[in-house]
Amino acid sequence: MDAAFAIPTEARETATSLPMAKDLSHHLNRLTRNRQASSLKELYKYMSYPGMITMAGGIPHPQVFPFETLSASILPVDAFPLDPPRIPAKPKKSLMSWLFPTSQNSSFTIPKYASDPKNPATIQLSTSLQYQAATGPLALPLFLREYVAKVYKPAYADWDVLINVGATDGWAKICSLFLEFGDAILVEEWTYPGAENTFLPYEAERVAIKMDAQGLLPDHLESVLSGWDEEKRGKRRPRVLYTIPTGQNPTGATMMAERKKQIYDIYIIICEDEPYYCLGATYEKSIVAQRLEDAEKEEGAEGNEAFIKALPPSFLAFDTDGRTFSKTSAPGSRLGWITTSPLFIERLTRATEASTQAPSGFATALTTTMLQQWGFEGYIRWLRGIKATYKMRKTWLCDSLADEFDLEFDTHSALFPEKSRTITGYAKRASSAWDEKRGLKGPALITFIPPTEAVGSACGRLGEFFEPGDSADIQVLFAPGWGFDAGGDHAIGGNGFGYYRLAFSIATYEETRSAMKTFSKVLTKFFRL
Ligand code: PLP
Repeated sequence: MDAAFAIPTEARETATSLPMAKDLSHHLNRLTRNRQASSLKELYKYMSYPGMITMAGGIPHPQVFPFETLSASILPVDAFPLDPPRIPAKPKKSLMSWLFPTSQNSSFTIPKYASDPKNPATIQLSTSLQYQAATGPLALPLFLREYVAKVYKPAYADWDVLINVGATDGWAKICSLFLEFGDAILVEEWTYPGAENTFLPYEAERVAIKMDAQGLLPDHLESVLSGWDEEKRGKRRPRVLYTIPTGQNPTGATMMAERKKQIYDIYIIICEDEPYYCLGATYEKSIVAQRLEDAEKEEGAEGNEAFIKALPPSFLAFDTDGRTFSKTSAPGSRLGWITTSPLFIERLTRATEASTQAPSGFATALTTTMLQQWGFEGYIRWLRGIKATYKMRKTWLCDSLADEFDLEFDTHSALFPEKSRTITGYAKRASSAWDEKRGLKGPALITFIPPTEAVGSACGRLGEFFEPGDSADIQVLFAPGWGFDAGGDHAIGGNGFGYYRLAFSIATYEETRSAMKTFSKVLTKFFRL
């Protein structure tokens, strides 16, 4: 048996100047305190002893795995430009390029048995497709430790990563760590419904924290917690906060360093869900931020560095106790990871052993080999291309909205998170430049928060009685806002009808333009204009 088969028990290289994680074991729930290590999985560590003949586990011999090799062709790291044109150019295909495609894709083949099985970075199918430790083969955590250290810069020494089956799985495992039935849980007033589906079956009460353009408001969080009367409310003070600090889903809000520090100073377990961390917008338009944005368009190591510098510091950067999970791979690969303290890593490992066991070997083998081929710098370049692509798609949406409505920044908005700058879209009525000069505009049809590239969506409010679900009939589907309402006071007529979230992440340029045309037509008809 090779070394990669063993549970990785060796200590991670730690930065000695940093403090160790705090002991938060008193927050673990009964279920988690009851979890025992799997007696069978405990044997894994002995299997890697030199000369060990393993007859303990009823595991299949890799010889009977039907997969001899696994091959993939991957895009180059710079497949997506850093400064794409505002309007996409039609691809020009000459006869020569049809006949002799000049693809820069690279390919790799993962063997069943590698020549260097003892190297922890080795990926081979005999290991990847075998029963294994909860975190999967060592090679992926090896890469992620470098990535987390350089990009998230955790502020404590003994953090580690645990691979999971995507952010939804990570969050479900985190809920199972802390929540007792009937507990209250802190959430942003608009939040991701997928996360709610995980904790609501615990009969959990959502405590919605007010937001502004940078996400949740520390003052409101503080007042909710300090005013919590356990007797009156019939439940203990909430201990877990679920937050999406970057490109908040659905509002697009991004928390900057100062706000994070204020929240961090409030004693609470913060679970930051960061699928959009590397896609987040640079918020402040200071000279420094503008310089960084310009530098981000440059190829090479300097551009990579500017990209990392422009990222808002993660909660991990203030931490002495870890609590985050993120995802970076394609959704169907079902891979993600949690970065946290050794205590939580150990408990989450036990939870993994008793549920998903380990991530899919196909997913870890392909993703890890891809990351190894690209390397850290290459992966950063890849992320920068993705970020630029979303920015381009956001521009398509903004341009399409501007073509279909008369847009104006609102001086005051009571509709959305406090202090958010909102935009109102008026029916295009000014039929001439003269009318426009006189300020003649049609009635207000929509109000929305300017989209940020991170989340791939715009969030807004429609006329009072328009049901966004109706949009399905006209072949343009929006997500109704009530699904994102964390039980706050957004409900119109009790259901939050009138709010919507629309995503620009997947539609093509032509589809985006056509969707906004239809949107304005439907609204105009609905309001009988
Ligand atoms: N968390 C947030 C905030 C999301 O927006 C999404 C997907 O849209 C997820 C989690 C789901 O992540 P995963 O596919 O890794 O489970």
